[in-house]
Amino acid sequence: IKIAVIKESGAQERRVALVPSVVPRIAKLGCDLLLEASAGEASSYPDASYQNVSIQADRVAMLGAADVVLAVEPPALDVVRAMKPGAILVSFLYGRNNVELTKALRDGKITAFAMEQIPRISRAQAMDALSSQATLAGYYAVLLGSVSMPKILPMMTTAVGSLRAAQVLVMGLGVAGLQALATARRLGAVTEGYDVRPETRDEARSLGAKFVETGVDATGQGGYARELTAEEKAKVRAVLTDHIAKADLIITTAAVPGRKAPRLIDAEQIAKMKPGAVIVDMGAEGGGNCEGTQAGETVRVGPTTLIGPVNLPSRLAEQASELYSKNILNLLEQIIKDGKVTLDMTDEVIAKTLATHDGVITAEPVREAVE
Ligand code: NAD
Repeated sequence: IKIAVIKESGAQERRVALVPSVVPRIAKLGCDLLLEASAGEASSYPDASYQNVSIQADRVAMLGAADVVLAVEPPALDVVRAMKPGAILVSFLYGRNNVELTKALRDGKITAFAMEQIPRISRAQAMDALSSQATLAGYYAVLLGSVSMPKILPMMTTAVGSLRAAQVLVMGLGVAGLQALATARRLGAVTEGYDVRPETRDEARSLGAKFVETGVDATGQGGYARELTAEEKAKVRAVLTDHIAKADLIITTAAVPGRKAPRLIDAEQIAKMKPGAVIVDMGAEGGGNCEGTQAGETVRVGPTTLIGPVNLPSRLAEQASELYSKNILNLLEQIIKDGKVTLDMTDEVIAKTLATHDGVITAEPVREAVE
């Protein structure tokens, strides 16, 4: 089996789908590895750091020879068109938003695994790329916010008196939010967390944070949140306004699957914030958790700085790639046995992660959106 790794083409994308340390483990599955020249360069893995991998200067020829293609971002159409019918693609796909790509995968008879569809079950944790990338993003969001603040996070005693610790509020306590809480606390901030799923209360407390009680439970399906009703939104807003007003740094991470990012902070609430306060809106790519967020931009709203980062994991490309490669390895171990591809469609992980196979869009929500 020939496994090919492409060089990512997105302008903001520095990650690579395979790092050198994972190569021996993939080779053990009975596979030969092909790497597009300089694919790992932007994530600190030069070609020379890959042992027992064939470096390929000709992308089209490499793709034409590959049985399995690995990528990070949804690939460009020319990648799919250069693949053999029946070949496997493993990558983030977001098929509902990438209609042309999904059709090309279907028509090219590609067996495509969408990494964002890995089910959130215990057995699949080691393949869960959304989580591995969100963890790093949550960490980085705190650092990004902290360097835009006119103050430090920890309490500090100096010869001329003590400086107070900063107040950090994290809204949305999924994987990224919990890591943001942990990071802010490690840096010495006083932390508060808020989510609409009450089970996050204990998780926040175990990280040394206070949980903001709003009395609203919006637990949805599969451990995710559901959208709030208008009444619930008003109730939550009344409680949160004071917490927003006293924060020095706010990290927002709220998301509801398949929906626009929920609005957690409006302009009126921003106007009540402390001068110099910073918001890092991790929902920026999904439309923003805050009024006024611009994806990929840092904007000033009065004395408040509003940061709308995109693709945070790519800023930590070395380790984001390392974790992603391991997620992929763990998936490949499910589908490649003794040098052969075997797809067990009765396996929940395979069935749920598959997006297209043999000319059919297998992921139902994607099929509904595309066909
Ligand atoms: P996500 O990115 O979908 O959402 C982030 C957070 O935003 C969630 O905690 C959600 O409850 C919250 N949220 C949504 N609307 C909100 C609102 N209006 N106000 C405040 N918060 C709001 O979440 P995620 O990080 O992908 O995690 C989703 C779920 O999956 C969690 O329950 C997590 O524990 C679970 N999970 C399970 C596994 C596993 O078992 N293998 C792995 C990872 C995550």
